[in-house]
Amino acid sequence: MCGIIGVENNENASVLASAGLITLQHRGEESAGITISGKKKMKTFKAMGLVSRIFNEEILLNKLPGTAAIGHVRYTTSSKSSLTNAQPFQINCIHDNISVAHNGNITNFPKIKEMLLKKGAIFSHTSDTEILLHLIAMSKGNLADIVANSLRKLEGAFSLVILKDKTLIGARDENGFRPLVLGKIDNSYIIASESAAIEVIGGKYIRDIKPAEIIVIENGQIKKSFLYKTPKKQNTCIFEQVYFSRPDSVMFDQTVKEARVKMGECLACQMKNIKADVVVPVPDTGYFAALGFSRESNILFENGFVRNHYVGRSFIKPSQSLRDLTAKLKLRPIKEVVKDKEIVLIDDSIVRGTTSKRIINMLKETGSKKIHFALSCPPIISSCYYGIDTSSKDHLIAANHSVEEIRKYLDVDSLTFLSLNNLIKACSFGNKKDNVFCTACFTGKYPTRISKNTYKKSC
Ligand code: AMP
Repeated sequence: MCGIIGVENNENASVLASAGLITLQHRGEESAGITISGKKKMKTFKAMGLVSRIFNEEILLNKLPGTAAIGHVRYTTSSKSSLTNAQPFQINCIHDNISVAHNGNITNFPKIKEMLLKKGAIFSHTSDTEILLHLIAMSKGNLADIVANSLRKLEGAFSLVILKDKTLIGARDENGFRPLVLGKIDNSYIIASESAAIEVIGGKYIRDIKPAEIIVIENGQIKKSFLYKTPKKQNTCIFEQVYFSRPDSVMFDQTVKEARVKMGECLACQMKNIKADVVVPVPDTGYFAALGFSRESNILFENGFVRNHYVGRSFIKPSQSLRDLTAKLKLRPIKEVVKDKEIVLIDDSIVRGTTSKRIINMLKETGSKKIHFALSCPPIISSCYYGIDTSSKDHLIAANHSVEEIRKYLDVDSLTFLSLNNLIKACSFGNKKDNVFCTACFTGKYPTRISKNTYKKSC
């Protein structure tokens, strides 16, 4: 998964872009980058690691002067986590300097790459985004035409920000898989993966970029906005609301927090016969669903874990005992809350099942009497081809085991998954828009063509 931001017509473009990227840090922690233009020659600065460590005052104020910027944070689903693949990708081509930042996964990447290789193209990255640079460089016309012609050739998931001189372009694939929103701060437009990134920097969320929309912005004005293709149906990833997005971001006319509270309320309705002493969230994603569960069931809500935010993803995990140590470093139960208690434990999802198993073991070691485990989404039975890292099908526990088998493996007293209907209800704000979600990870029904050649490893 990745996060993207674009800022234009602003003397503080690089500072705002970096603040926006810090707000989007949860979407990718491996590398971050910013391209700046509008004053001097276009320039890109990127590095591995967290945004706040990469972009200090010296770099932002002295090395990145300009009025337009795009930025990117990356969490790759592929094994190739390297600076070469860090974005934005800046190129120099017949159209001068252009830079691109991408969130999603271009599913027909292998086919287009092969076609480009036959034409003599040279590739220097392993990322799918690189094909877009080649298509842009080979297209003719004005910038909007070039982007539209290129995007028509792509399949899969792509939310994009593109920069050339003072012009900022935002674009979204025809299914609208990954989010992309438009906002404004004073006389500057901002485009970002999530509305929270706009609001944190003092801007106002205006609207979502539509599926298949290209929006061209320059000098604080929307120059053009059009559909490069007629979208058949919107298929926005529902897992964004379950797990990925920030609770304070707006999606489908409500905050993600509100959707998660509703998920918890629905879970409580599904588990009416369960009696327990306390509802405990797995931090942080389980928090609002547990709150909703508690409100609906009248069972006391308690924070039963301390989460340590200083343990990075990369903490060494070579052996089982060190993996257990990492889990304990990250999360530790609070004895007074969980000992001798019958608990409803709420988390967002089970992917491979290993995290849940460790958390449940910790609760047992701390003396919990009974555990009812509830998840705010249905069982994940299919891999995602549109940018979320949900492992291959062999590693998805629910793809290979029944709910009862998973309950036995986790050794809990009951196991409840939120039903798909309830998830859609929670995410679609009063059921007004219940047909706009991609739910392929829960159903195996993919909105686009999937074959054994379909590419799956992007961000
Ligand atoms: P596991 O079942 O051990 O694979 O871990 C599942 C937990 O990882 C969930 O409870 C989420 O909090 C988190 N999670 C879910 N999806 C992802 C993802 N795509 N990337 C990273 N973490 C995830």
